[in-house]
Amino acid sequence: MASKRSVKVADLIIGGGFPVSIQTMWKEPLDPADLPSALHRIQGLASLGCDLLRFAVPDIGAAETLGALAAMAKMPLVADIHFDWRIALRCLDFPIAKIRLNPGNIGARWKVEEVVKKAQGKGVPIRIGVNGGSLPEDLRDLPDRAAAIVEAAERECAVFDELGFQDVLVSMKASDVAQTIAVNRAFASRHEVPLHIGVTEAGPLIAGVVKNTAALVPLLADGIGDTIRVSLSSDMESEVTAAREILAAAGRGRAGITIVSCPRCARASFDTHAFSARWAPRLYCLGKTATIAIMGCVVNGPGEARHADLGITGAGDKVIIFKNGAIARTIRPEEADIVFEEELRAFE
Ligand code: SF4
Repeated sequence: MASKRSVKVADLIIGGGFPVSIQTMWKEPLDPADLPSALHRIQGLASLGCDLLRFAVPDIGAAETLGALAAMAKMPLVADIHFDWRIALRCLDFPIAKIRLNPGNIGARWKVEEVVKKAQGKGVPIRIGVNGGSLPEDLRDLPDRAAAIVEAAERECAVFDELGFQDVLVSMKASDVAQTIAVNRAFASRHEVPLHIGVTEAGPLIAGVVKNTAALVPLLADGIGDTIRVSLSSDMESEVTAAREILAAAGRGRAGITIVSCPRCARASFDTHAFSARWAPRLYCLGKTATIAIMGCVVNGPGEARHADLGITGAGDKVIIFKNGAIARTIRPEEADIVFEEELRAFE
């Protein structure tokens, strides 16, 4: 079931049947003296398909640095606040697109009210971020952890409702796949609030992608989830790429590149691993929808490459490039990068 409500995060609409947006989180402290590098990296993330970027804001100085960056960045930037409501208030002095709060650790209700009031005045939405690892004290030891997470989220929503603030999203994160599915299904069956979904603290690259895929594909297939973050102990670019692939696997993907590449075996005369590693980041940034095949030998190579929009395959001591189902060029393996670059430019 799709969330019926939507929120506007700068120019991005989340919920209300709009395409599921992709977000990631900045992983280091921002260097106030080097915001141009941050902007450059944000541009790269945007090219990969990232719609929204969140920053931890641990103190007032970090709020000011993020504020300066938000004034320059085209991508909507989100401030993630724990413990100190004054940091959220300071963030709201800048063009921050969204605030993420864990009201459970902000403390007294009047502090939450102050933030809500200021966000309301500025038209900035708030994500209520409930995390299985930081539940309110009275819910911490309940045997049904999924029910406890949902209860925590519903309590916070009730507070925002009482304050007349509807511009909210909710996330209920757990590090367990079944719990992630259960909490989001339970909440979505009772509320129309847009949902940010993902498995938190999901682990390193492979474990994290597997857990997020296992949790998010069934939710997305049910129409649950309006924005996703694939949390990985890895880089932001991997989180965004994984999110794209998960959306595609769930049939909720947007236009973009599909890469078909073989695992390589003893028959390979072309190193698909090295070639894919070199070219995948560039391919994911192509602004068109197409299938690219990267194959090792004649067993499956010509077949896959022929079915792709652009394909490259090893074939004995040669490498063959296919375009739109036909052989375009036959080259030596050492020419592969140069020739692929030429073909890609013509293809873009
Ligand atoms: S296409 Fe060839 S190299 Fe690649 S996995 Fe199949 S048999 Fe091995």
